[in-house]
Amino acid sequence: MPFSKNALKVLESRYLRRNLKGELAETPDELFMRVAKAVAEAELAWGTHSEAEKWQAIFYESMKNLLFLPNSPTLMNAGTSLNQLSACFVLPIEDNLDSIFTTLKNAAMIQQSGGGTGFNFSQLRPKNDLISVTGGEASGPVSFMKVFNCATEHVKHGGKRRGANMGILKVDHPDIEEFVVSKTDEKALNNFNISVGITDKFMQAVEKDETWELIHPNSKSIIKTIKAKDLWRLIIENAWSSGDPGLVFLDTINAGNPLLPLGKIECTNPCGEVPLLPYESCNLGSINLSKFVEQEGRKNIINFTKLGSTIEMAIRFLDNVIEVNHYLLPQTKTIVTANRKIGLGIMGWADLLIMLELPYDSNEAISLAHQVMKFFKEKSLEASVQLAKERGVFKNWEKSIFYPNIKLRHATRLSIAPTGTISIIADTSSSIEPLFAVAYRRSHVLDGNILSEINPLFIDYLKKNKLYSEGLMDEVKETGYLQHIKQIPAATKNVFKTALEISPDWHLKHQVVFQRYVDNAVSKTINLAETASVSDISEIYLNAWKQKTKGITIFRYNSKNKQVLEKGISS
Ligand code: UDP
Repeated sequence: MPFSKNALKVLESRYLRRNLKGELAETPDELFMRVAKAVAEAELAWGTHSEAEKWQAIFYESMKNLLFLPNSPTLMNAGTSLNQLSACFVLPIEDNLDSIFTTLKNAAMIQQSGGGTGFNFSQLRPKNDLISVTGGEASGPVSFMKVFNCATEHVKHGGKRRGANMGILKVDHPDIEEFVVSKTDEKALNNFNISVGITDKFMQAVEKDETWELIHPNSKSIIKTIKAKDLWRLIIENAWSSGDPGLVFLDTINAGNPLLPLGKIECTNPCGEVPLLPYESCNLGSINLSKFVEQEGRKNIINFTKLGSTIEMAIRFLDNVIEVNHYLLPQTKTIVTANRKIGLGIMGWADLLIMLELPYDSNEAISLAHQVMKFFKEKSLEASVQLAKERGVFKNWEKSIFYPNIKLRHATRLSIAPTGTISIIADTSSSIEPLFAVAYRRSHVLDGNILSEINPLFIDYLKKNKLYSEGLMDEVKETGYLQHIKQIPAATKNVFKTALEISPDWHLKHQVVFQRYVDNAVSKTINLAETASVSDISEIYLNAWKQKTKGITIFRYNSKNKQVLEKGISS
């Protein structure tokens, strides 16, 4: 089995089943067999036993060879008594205690099963508003977020995974200023990503330097009038100092909402890659692009035939997941089986570019992204059309933008997830991110464990080009990057440029081009050097809106005490 040391560590600590004594009860091979079998069982609703067995073998091979991996809950739970297979959920919160605490309980159950939850708190009345039943004063959205945060802290995803939440507040909510500064204290909402729900109207008000009204969510009366630019400044200053808040662009999201008659989308899952309606969940899976590179003569090329059949297989796999999934909530079962949203994405983008010797910050890389993602879009559509022929269109098809022209089985098909853990299992670069460093320590992933790595592609590249030496490796370990090392040629330095050496523009260009072909959203972090300024962030956020990303997240190096990735491994 082709597993790296780090992959084995992750598999052992979180994914492999254990017996009652806590001893390992399966091997990685058995894990993939368990998942393949559970997912292929869906085939029996339409086909014979031998067809189900055929697909089981195909699913198993593609996972075992690390061509494709489903999201973590599918790997952890498929074929177990829990069988909750989705990574992403959105739950509604209405302006009453019953709704707030029902959702809190539902979120706890989802997180225990390994899923992440997103909430839009904008329906809640503002802080100090009257509560008619008691005559008391409301505590407001931010205080309830703290309650959710605390619950997550104690649920800890069934001991396997830390909980993840997305908290959104609309930009015209009266408590928006409190929300924007709510993560200044790092511990306060440590289990939340927060994003401001931005409208085009607000962005235009910022551009024109106009006033901005904060509106009561129930009475719709104006509670306060502020300058749009002042709120914008507060947002970007906080993003500068802590990475939060990010933005979600609600109008852009709804311009691409395939099911508007069901309601506007107002929320995303925790990492932002799937905008969802209340109670929807989404199953993700990612194709490891680094496995599709082949040598042709002296050049490396992408094997598009193999990629095409893997996309087709993955769409079928994710369709099956909807069939065999155990839904914790009846509302989720109803809406998920009616809309059948899935999110196929990629990992290993940076590794692919390295193997093709293309710098991340190059026009060639961007053109390749167009080519690869156009291919993903077309192939995933074809696969969904084919499955609609075999198994029927999704139930709400007639309410969708695809009616009556394209008979599809899934309301959405593509999504670029962070692949935080599955990329470790696949031993490839995560999602569409550039290398964070050539040598790095990855902490907090396994609660306390620290994983150290020198990028294996870098070692191969040095050996191939006769540049490898132990002394050089020591130098690289010291800082984790190459630009200052004299004996490394410029071309090598360009190919191995790391996240912080790549300008924010190029980060954003990648997000924009991927978003163009992806019907859900793209999870991407625009990594910034510690020296980046507040106005740099303003420009990135503004450009992201203009270029129609569905959301934007930045992270300035060292702006949090506790960060997941640290450059260099020798300290
Ligand atoms: N997620 C979560 N907890 C985590 C990591 C992820 O709930 O600790 C959810 C969250 O909804 C996120 C999604 O899983 O948006 C996908 O994240 P990622 O691709 O990193 O997950 P992986 O499948 O690699 O574990």
